[in-house]
Amino acid sequence: MKNLEFPIFKTKIDSSKKFDLTDFDQRQEYFELKAGKEIKELREYLKENTFIAYLLGKKNSGKGTYAKMFKEVVDKDKIEHFSIGDMIRELDKVLKDKSKKKELISSLEKNYRGFLPLEEIIKSLEKRSTKTLLPSELILALVKKEIAGRGKKAVFIDGFPREMDQISYSLFFRDLVGYRDDPDVFVLIDVPEAVIDERIKYRMICPLCQASRNLKLLPTEEIGYDKKEKKFYLICDDSVCGDPDCKGERMVQKEGDELGIEPIRERLETDEKLIKQAFSLYGIPKVLLRNSVPIDKAKDLVDDYEITPEYSYQKDKKSEEIKKNEKPWQVLDDNGVPCYSLMPPPVVVSLIKQVTKVLGI
Ligand SMILES: [Zn+2]
Repeated sequence: MKNLEFPIFKTKIDSSKKFDLTDFDQRQEYFELKAGKEIKELREYLKENTFIAYLLGKKNSGKGTYAKMFKEVVDKDKIEHFSIGDMIRELDKVLKDKSKKKELISSLEKNYRGFLPLEEIIKSLEKRSTKTLLPSELILALVKKEIAGRGKKAVFIDGFPREMDQISYSLFFRDLVGYRDDPDVFVLIDVPEAVIDERIKYRMICPLCQASRNLKLLPTEEIGYDKKEKKFYLICDDSVCGDPDCKGERMVQKEGDELGIEPIRERLETDEKLIKQAFSLYGIPKVLLRNSVPIDKAKDLVDDYEITPEYSYQKDKKSEEIKKNEKPWQVLDDNGVPCYSLMPPPVVVSLIKQVTKVLGI
């Protein structure tokens, strides 16, 4: 983030072991080695206790990925990852179902307090006219309902606060949902905009199963080459999505993705303001995560396999065979410092250790 330095977290340890962090089993072994003690302590804590963590990071910074991985590693049954974006998308479906809609409205009539009449909000929701204009008071009532329906668990909230006025709501949120005595914490995530930009620019989607990969950062096993367009592309298969029909399906770029972060610049600016505001809050503990490491410090702080690789491709003129080249991915961070971008697992190691510390266990 511009003019805001997050501390760099050391995950390098004295061990010659190497892991493929894209592999599920190896990843579990990795976490055991790097944060085994804290994972055990957290599991013990979660038997009787909960916490609420607000994830604050720019759009496409990987908030959901980190929370889901934390949940996967620590305790699938005692932790919820709760995305406001998903909840609002789900609302569309609920409103189309007569009985579900009735149930929703009667629950909101009990819980909603705000400046706009409920009927008006529901009407505009049905017209799908105002995704961004959903009042904070309605979001609060909806989140309360959702959380109540899931039993008492530790929750990562993703997408709230989303606007500046919601920061003050979040300070009292745990009282509102009946978590009064449980700790709450802000998890602030710093990812360079250059990282977000390339994640979007090189993203490819399977038209059949909608699986998403990245030509530069997360390729599929098989790569194709379009002679007419002189472009390489990814090929979906059932190891990507589990769908046997996807064998050999050519993945495509979504229209607009070639523009990278340009279309979401305004959103990113709001997100940055939110993070900076939360950063300066008193009285609520903060976990600071960063996904980049300055290149000149990387050797002492992270293991090589924790750095995200970037891929490029070459086609042999004679055999037509496509060769994959791999090297550490370099970007400039928002302050212009050359950095490596980290894979999600080392960021999650940092999350696990910092959450353990904040909870005082
Ligand atoms: Zn597919």
